[in-house]
Amino acid sequence: MQNFDAIVIGAGAAGLFCAGVAGQRGLRVLVLDHSEKIAEKIRISGGGRANFTNRDLDPHAPNKHFISANPNFCRSALSRYTPADFIALLQRHGVAFHEKHKGQLFCDRSAEDLIQMLLHECEAGGVQRWQPCGVKAVRVDGDGVYELDTDQGTVRSRSVVVATGGLSIPKIGATDFGYRLARQFGLRLVEPRPGLVPLTFDGDGWLPYAGLSGLALPVRIETGDKKGRMAFNEDLLFTHRGLSGPAVLQISSYWHDNSPIRLNLAPDADLPASLARAKATSRKLIANELAGLVPSRLADAWVQQDADWQRPVAEASDKALARLAERLSRWEITPTGTEGYKKAEVTLGGVDTRDLSSQTLESKQPGLYFIGEVVDVTGWLGGYNFQWAWASAHACAQALPSP
Ligand SMILES: Cc1cc2nc3c(=O)[nH]c(=O)nc-3n(C[C@H](O)[C@H](O)[C@H](O)COP(=O)(O)OP(=O)(O)OC[C@H]3O[C@@H](n4cnc5c(N)ncnc54)[C@H](O)[C@@H]3O)c2cc1C
Repeated sequence: MQNFDAIVIGAGAAGLFCAGVAGQRGLRVLVLDHSEKIAEKIRISGGGRANFTNRDLDPHAPNKHFISANPNFCRSALSRYTPADFIALLQRHGVAFHEKHKGQLFCDRSAEDLIQMLLHECEAGGVQRWQPCGVKAVRVDGDGVYELDTDQGTVRSRSVVVATGGLSIPKIGATDFGYRLARQFGLRLVEPRPGLVPLTFDGDGWLPYAGLSGLALPVRIETGDKKGRMAFNEDLLFTHRGLSGPAVLQISSYWHDNSPIRLNLAPDADLPASLARAKATSRKLIANELAGLVPSRLADAWVQQDADWQRPVAEASDKALARLAERLSRWEITPTGTEGYKKAEVTLGGVDTRDLSSQTLESKQPGLYFIGEVVDVTGWLGGYNFQWAWASAHACAQALPSP
């Protein structure tokens, strides 16, 4: 039977990084993954260029960009391993990157550069990597030593790091392994649900908008009530089943079943003033006037909803124009659901942070650690989830006991 100082289950973002850092500290590390192809989520992320961190991340105010039953939990790891630390690592490896909007950093060439960098870090730490290799059982003996029955035999270690991620995109290897293991050792879970996910709208209520599929525009989107309102200014995308685009992905992580979302479809326009001016000066149809304020496809579809809007603007009543302005700037609609894990970028919820150390990511079960997305810490769209993967992995790797 082979012995290791640490066994990392899951060779994704958090697992590979943790294994490399721990290996370079001199630990004998095994990282294993049940998939033939490791790090698939890195590979497909950010449109193939991996939005690997965000310069705007404020580790001292984690609740700004992270969702968790305890948003302060991630503060320790995030402040000890920052975006600047990860950028320095990329620079050491000569990986070229650029900033898109809102502090988001992407690889210039390909996400593959990031994966190769993580694999080189593992090599530099002498890490053993087994894949595809599933774990059939995990048990701990009276001395606190773990035994893992794997597809390649039984292995032993005092430290086991669970980095198996969340449930999103099952077809590239996502499983509930981490949650099951947490339960096996009596740890609590915050109910998982899909996050950063398109919202769906079934039934007749959606019919007026079904023809807008493919249309994108900047909006302000919000959900929640006075106690917990959340809003984003981002791009919206109409799809054939509902709404997507960064605006909707962001708000989906804050949206709860049966509650409405509100959209301002012309956030940069003063609609009442523009329509009043048009009424006084223009001979055009309302739809044509509107097309100067929102995309013309949207303007055409929108006026179909009310007979009073299908006429020249000069002939419209003040009331009808006020209603039009109100409805475009405060469009309230209740999603019937989400596209689920098959389209979600992340999983909200996970291993309850009350059962984890924020310093080391060790659980109440000594020697058992949880890092990355399997933990109840979820970031905004924009590189925050990878930064949590790097930071939690680093905190754990530093804390793993050496022999
Ligand atoms: C389409 C898409 C795009 C994304 N884009 C971005 C982005 O641009 N920026 C960003 O910050 N975040 C992005 N994310 C989110 C980001 O990919 C994840 O938050 C991050 O990969 C989580 O890292 P992790 O190591 O915890 O899990 P993962 O990277 O998912 O790794 C988990 C690993 O565990 C393995 N595994 C699972 N079950 C088992 C098992 N039973 N036994 C053995 N191994 C197992 C998996 O095969 C996988 O290799 C995106 C996600 C998706 C789906």
